[in-house]
Amino acid sequence: QVASPPHVEAQLLEALRRYWGYDSFLPLQAEAMGATMARQDSVVVLPTGGGKSLCYQAPAVCREGLALVVSPLISLMKDQVDALQACGVPAAAINSTLTPGERRDVAEQIRRGELKLVYVAPERLLAERTLEFFKQTPLSLIAIDEAHCISQWGHDFRPEYRGLKILKAHFPGVSVHAYTATASERVQRDIADQLGLHQPQMLIGSFDRPNLIFRIRRPANRFADVCQLVEQRKGEAGIVYCISRKEVDKTAEALRALGYRALPYHAGLSDDQRHRNQDAFLDEKADIVVATVAFGMGIDKSNVRYVIHAGMPKSLEHYVQESGRAGRDGLEADCLLLYSGRDAIVWRGLMEKGENGADAAALQSLAAMERFCGGVTCRHRAIVNYFGQELDNDNCGACDVCLGELNLVDEPVVLAQKILSCVIRLDQRFGADYTSKVLAGSNESRIRELGHDSLSTYGLLSEHRHSAIREWVEQLVGQAYLRKAGEYGTLELTETGRALLKGQGTPQLTKPAPVGRESKARGGK
Ligand code: ADP
Ligand code: ZN
Repeated sequence: QVASPPHVEAQLLEALRRYWGYDSFLPLQAEAMGATMARQDSVVVLPTGGGKSLCYQAPAVCREGLALVVSPLISLMKDQVDALQACGVPAAAINSTLTPGERRDVAEQIRRGELKLVYVAPERLLAERTLEFFKQTPLSLIAIDEAHCISQWGHDFRPEYRGLKILKAHFPGVSVHAYTATASERVQRDIADQLGLHQPQMLIGSFDRPNLIFRIRRPANRFADVCQLVEQRKGEAGIVYCISRKEVDKTAEALRALGYRALPYHAGLSDDQRHRNQDAFLDEKADIVVATVAFGMGIDKSNVRYVIHAGMPKSLEHYVQESGRAGRDGLEADCLLLYSGRDAIVWRGLMEKGENGADAAALQSLAAMERFCGGVTCRHRAIVNYFGQELDNDNCGACDVCLGELNLVDEPVVLAQKILSCVIRLDQRFGADYTSKVLAGSNESRIRELGHDSLSTYGLLSEHRHSAIREWVEQLVGQAYLRKAGEYGTLELTETGRALLKGQGTPQLTKPAPVGRESKARGGK
């Protein structure tokens, strides 16, 4: 990637100062703007709050011609256009909310070269007449906002984005720039491929959000855990994510009954109701939005102080996206994730019922999410590692693990050795579930048939529940004492695991979750 020539950078800084009142670039902004000024296609990946919009807005102001911005939501466009106009940048949106008269006005302004940016939804841009119109217009650049919508590997695939691949052919001289907060490499590559970008600069920012404090907990009673944080952050803005609409309604109602200003948000509500609830949240007339994943894209509320996941999201991509809505102002914010093994079962059920069935990629993402939840390594590290990045410091000081809040068992070595011995006794030919059952001393017939009830390790951990043992196995996998091999996830010892059998190393294993009414209470979907 090339740095801009000094005079270009100076010009960008001048625009930043003049229109936005900022004195410097945020990380990667200079590079991203540089690609735009140099008319080189680019994919820019910055976390939420990283300042993506300015990456094309500032160049749009500096360059001749009109910048075309593709954006998926009318509400998003409106916010952006309002903000630009407030800064004195001439901008408009073309969408279905315009009257024919208004649309003519915008077209007229464009013809007269009065606008620097125009926001447009993909399906509208791709309409023949619109395309023809813009072909007659001198364009400075094309920016694709929320570009992950083009990828079915992303968390918000939108079929209408797929059509954008024709842009390069229709506007051969105009550079195309894609922007997203989605961290996964596969999605990043897919964006470049789908758009047919020409040798794009890939500008990938750091995904770590040091101001977010991550905590993961297995609750005995979810609602009580939700309430605890809500009460701690009373009067501040927060989002509570639930898996199902029903849970959203129930939780929102229960919070209101306790006197909190909470509103529901999900796809089952009318458009009108959703907008009203969202606006109430933005205008601080409500403190809490209880929502399904449907909520949040383009919510530019910088002072969200906490995000609670009352259930496990179906992928780390979703988790990062949703928890990332907290603390956009850079100040400390809390992210609490509550999960139980049931969550994964609920998700599998939903996926199987869904349009595409449970495809392998979705199941893999779900499994990774489960590993993340069961893990006992630094949450910040686990997240950035998942997205192929490293973390500099050993102790982030901002997660339950690094803050020493985990409830760890007192003698992890002995416990782990028992589990590893059992894996050896089973000739490293069985999976996590079966191994845990043998350790728990289950009287399942398969165990008897295979004669494993006569192993010395059979029932070695019979004082613990199968689910607890199962979790320790996952934790040992997470810490690389064990690995899962092959199609069936057969457990095998790693080098580190063998060393542990000889007494070297200290795994971290958490105390079993409290036995609550959780499993019963959540029995229904
Ligand atoms: P994203 O789209 O990446 O989530 P935004 O473009 O909404 O982020 O920017 C997040 C916040 O950072 C906005 O309030 C924006 O005005 C601010 N911002 C952007 N660039 C700068 C900068 N160079 N200096 C200071 N603040 C900035
Ligand atoms: Zn940490």
